[in-house]
Amino acid sequence: MFDSLSGRLAGVLTDLRGKGKLSDADIDRTCREIRLALLEADVSLTVVRGFIARIKERAKGAEVSGALNPAQQVVKIVNEELVGILGGETRRIQFAKTPPTVIMLAGLQGAGKTTLAGKLAAWLKKQGHTPILVACDLQRPGAVSQLQIVGERAGVPVFAPNPGTSIGGTGELGVSGSAGAGSLTEPIEVARSGVAEARSKQHDVVIVDTAGRLGIDEELMAQAKGIRDAVEPDEVLFVLDAMIGQDAVATAEAFAQGVDFTGVVLTKLDGDARGGAALSVREITGRPIMFASTGEKLEDFDVFHPDRMSSRILG
Ligand code: GDP
Repeated sequence: MFDSLSGRLAGVLTDLRGKGKLSDADIDRTCREIRLALLEADVSLTVVRGFIARIKERAKGAEVSGALNPAQQVVKIVNEELVGILGGETRRIQFAKTPPTVIMLAGLQGAGKTTLAGKLAAWLKKQGHTPILVACDLQRPGAVSQLQIVGERAGVPVFAPNPGTSIGGTGELGVSGSAGAGSLTEPIEVARSGVAEARSKQHDVVIVDTAGRLGIDEELMAQAKGIRDAVEPDEVLFVLDAMIGQDAVATAEAFAQGVDFTGVVLTKLDGDARGGAALSVREITGRPIMFASTGEKLEDFDVFHPDRMSSRILG
């Protein structure tokens, strides 16, 4: 994903090698080039400005230490600042003191929520948890059955209304591996019942998949907020497609306001788009990036480590 950014930065920093001492002009030139590389990768201007200002200040004020030559010192500063904009520490899921822990997923349609639900469930299961998935995306045709397929793959039960159930339907249960939500037609009701189901069947984590849309709209946000208020999740994860470019920032801001999410999941980091906008999301929203998704398979998923991501970008 960050190959071209990585290549550019490596080039800039390599140019410094071999210099015994860095003049202020050297630092200014290096910062200008780093700035350009970040902007070309779609990192937001506000984030780039602060980042470059901090690097410049630190690099100019840096004491020449015995252990590092000037170029290594600049690399060290760039690395530390990059880890900083990516959030510093790795942020883990905060489990509820009294189970079940409720994790709600929100984001635009196509961001990768449903895929993520399966990945997260499989990952939690591997750690000894007993998750259940709850299908609250009743908008997109096929979303419920997609979640059921994902659940089956992950070996995790899915709480869902029967596909095609209409208002006043029979409420029959038809979901393998768990009780279904029968005739429920309201996402908020499904969410509430899913959490009740988890409690009664002693699942310690509930993952609530919600509907997305192609763009942000009030109805989408109101529904997500309604689900949030109904089930009071311990974590609300905003799922963000890293390939959507500059729109990522505005989308993240809208969801931060709308559902007040607690963490971000970056998806499609395996793509070849510029992706830098996703690197701005922590700084812009103040919410940590918690997980990264790097493919369509269940195992293409990991906890997000700011320091590892920074090392990868800096090569
Ligand atoms: P939702 O509408 O937010 O639930 O999105 P989906 O989970 O249905 O994902 C939309 C599309 O993106 C599907 O074709 C997924 O297979 C694909 N997808 C999801 N996550 C990733 C990822 O990390 N990398 C890639 N390459 N594709 C992904």
